[in-house]
Amino acid sequence: MSETAVDAGRSPECGLAQRAEYQDLHADCRGTEDVPLPHGMGLLLMPRCSCPCHRQSSGGGR
Ligand SMILES: [Zn+2]
Ligand SMILES: [Zn+2]
Repeated sequence: MSETAVDAGRSPECGLAQRAEYQDLHADCRGTEDVPLPHGMGLLLMPRCSCPCHRQSSGGGR
């Protein structure tokens, strides 16, 4: 079995960070918000990263 391709919508950092050796890269990801193009009329320069590591822990408690 081979690992499937990186999830669409996930940044390269978090894509790599899925591997145990690269877990630290989650902290490197800055794709926590949609980045619109300056004059993009609604186009996105960088869509928000869909990695679960960016989920806001609200109501989860600790
Ligand atoms: Zn990410
Ligand atoms: Zn991540």
